[in-house]
Amino acid sequence: MTAKVAIDLSLDRLFDYDVPEAMEKKLAVGQLLSVPFGRRMARGFLMALHENRQSTEIGKNIKLKPIYAIEDEVPFFSGNMIKLVNDISSYFAAPVESVLRAAVPAAVLKRGAHEKLQLYVTPVAINRESISLSARQKWLLEQIVRLEGGWLSTLCRELGTSASMLKSLKEKGLLEIKERQKRRVVTDMRHVMPVEARKLNEEQTRAVNIIATSNKPVLLKGVTGSGKTEVYLHAISNILDAGGSAIVMVPEIALTSQTVQRFASRFGNEVAVMHSALSEGERYDEWHRIRSGHARVIIGARSAVFAPVVNLKLIVVDEEHEPSYKQEDNPRYNGRDVAIMRAAIEGAKVILGSATPSLESWANFVKGKYALAEIKRRAGNGRMPSVRIVDMLENEGGPVKIYSQELLSAIGARLRRHEQVILFLNRRGYSKSVECPECGYVMECEDCATPYTYHIADDCLRCHICGVWQPCPNRCPRCGSQAIRYKGIGTQRAEIALSKIFKEARILRMDSDTTTRKNSHMDILGAFRRHEADVLLGTQMIAKGLDFPNVTLVGVLNADSSLNMPDFRAAERTFQLIAQVSGRAGRADLPGEVILQTKNAEDATILAATRGDYDAFARTELATRMEYRYPPYRHYSIVRIKSKDTLLAKAWAELVAKTLGKVNGLEVAQAIPCVQVKAEGWYRWQIAVMSDSAKLLVKSWKWLENILKIPSGVKIGVDVDAYNMI
Ligand code: ADP
Ligand code: ZN
Ligand code: ZN
Repeated sequence: MTAKVAIDLSLDRLFDYDVPEAMEKKLAVGQLLSVPFGRRMARGFLMALHENRQSTEIGKNIKLKPIYAIEDEVPFFSGNMIKLVNDISSYFAAPVESVLRAAVPAAVLKRGAHEKLQLYVTPVAINRESISLSARQKWLLEQIVRLEGGWLSTLCRELGTSASMLKSLKEKGLLEIKERQKRRVVTDMRHVMPVEARKLNEEQTRAVNIIATSNKPVLLKGVTGSGKTEVYLHAISNILDAGGSAIVMVPEIALTSQTVQRFASRFGNEVAVMHSALSEGERYDEWHRIRSGHARVIIGARSAVFAPVVNLKLIVVDEEHEPSYKQEDNPRYNGRDVAIMRAAIEGAKVILGSATPSLESWANFVKGKYALAEIKRRAGNGRMPSVRIVDMLENEGGPVKIYSQELLSAIGARLRRHEQVILFLNRRGYSKSVECPECGYVMECEDCATPYTYHIADDCLRCHICGVWQPCPNRCPRCGSQAIRYKGIGTQRAEIALSKIFKEARILRMDSDTTTRKNSHMDILGAFRRHEADVLLGTQMIAKGLDFPNVTLVGVLNADSSLNMPDFRAAERTFQLIAQVSGRAGRADLPGEVILQTKNAEDATILAATRGDYDAFARTELATRMEYRYPPYRHYSIVRIKSKDTLLAKAWAELVAKTLGKVNGLEVAQAIPCVQVKAEGWYRWQIAVMSDSAKLLVKSWKWLENILKIPSGVKIGVDVDAYNMI
């Protein structure tokens, strides 16, 4: 027998090993093995077993090295998971071991992660000059400080010392030995009041029935506050009763909020949370609780789709339209799409929930690939807020003003009534397009009907779809204003302006500057919830999944900056954003109002969004996508090239574009430098590729990799179904 093993190296290939006879019966696909590799031992996952040598790529006469040992007899991946990993690797053109690495938390693979006692370095050890130590002790301490502590027995082994030696350092106050943190999630859950299942309303009941009976993925479309979460809870409860398990994927930010608590209070200890803020030990524990079948409801961000769940019967993808499901580095998978892939392999159901489904998913429903369950009304007594447009071009006092008179008087009224206000400003620096602040004109590529992207490095405008470029104008081509180069409003400026107008108002600002500290997110939101501030002013971050009962006004300061994003998904993002922020107003008994400031008061997307009319929006937008053959009618992918040598990067980008351009069925754009050409010492280029099939691009890419001898100083990767275009 021979084995194919994926070794943790950045090599896009598997290695063959001989299976010692004594091991044959014990081996199972998905196990972690140790194998000789060159002169050292390496760890790797068993991907496949072959009866005889002929079936492997290696010739008969080459003597294979034998597997050295099985590290853990319980496989880390089931056979289904190995299949999923292979499917992801081929669809997203990612090396198998990069997918494996994404699929198991690093904490689980770390040697010694299961140990109980952890060694911490104390501040005394850091300033240790004054303490008298033997040479041996001194050396040990230096090593431990360098390693920043670790597991007691692992350190003993690696440093060739004994626990008593380390304890002598502890006695001097240099080290601390503590039992690893207990599962915080469980401790938290003790304080959660158990919540009884609610009686579902008619629309919710229908949704649960569709989920129970449909054998297609179900698109659950329901306005914010329509009780989608309640539907998930019921669907999961049915799955658990039948002995199955479920994965619930949510955007990262929702993990820190009430969502997790709602699941925990319904399903108690059955819940496992996979969260980036967990400590290594916690992650290790959660993962093992899942693999052993003790936790049957798994909540997490995109990587939760890989949870080693036993008997998986349902995957819920909440807010399925969220771009954060797409991983922006290797492997560049989309968690939502992987959920569909995994469910198909495991025979599980899928619910894709959203108030504003992605057009990809909506098109799948239109095509009949997905079933639809719709909830049109809010579940509680809250009504949908009224939405008002303020045309900033007609705003007296000049168009560059941040606040319209209408918005200011609405804010004033809330402050007098002690109600709260959320003001939303698109992410600073996000607007890479060039927009005239006087007349709202946007420089765009006429062939692609998409705004140009401004490249600061060479002061020019480039189309990120076809690659053409032109110099950035100094005057607006429509109205002649020189203000066209004006860079937009930042949250900080908006805050200062507001505090000058309302001197008494307590304002909290939330953006990438005020949330650099760990937990600062939660601190700001917590303070706002406790009504320690009247106004929360922030970027995208505040638009999502938050529930503040006392907020009765939401103001969108610049609805256009998302509309003018240089991205064919700009209209979709704008619609989603307006729907999301509208969902923040008036969730409890107080009626809500939304005010949208825009320079595109007649725009079809803005108008559909103010009416909350998703179907009308989807109809128009899909027609546009069809006309330009954008996704979901074709695949849009990006080939990314980087090198530390600027000339090499450019030359290879151009060569790859030219070579791929010869493939029938691929529409390949000119190679262009990325907006941020240089990052961490790398010069970066990109090539947009459109194709009817994603497979064709990946196949062509593999072919190209074989025929061109790419030098080691050049890194090329493919971002299949790209989301980030700049
Ligand atoms: P969504 O996930 O669609 O935004 P939620 O599930 O959070 O909506 O529900 C919104 C609010 O309505 C919550 O406070 C929830 O407790 C309440 N709710 C949900 N379903 C019902 C129901 N059947 N009857 C009464 N209230 C409900
Ligand atoms: Zn203009
Ligand atoms: Zn173009």
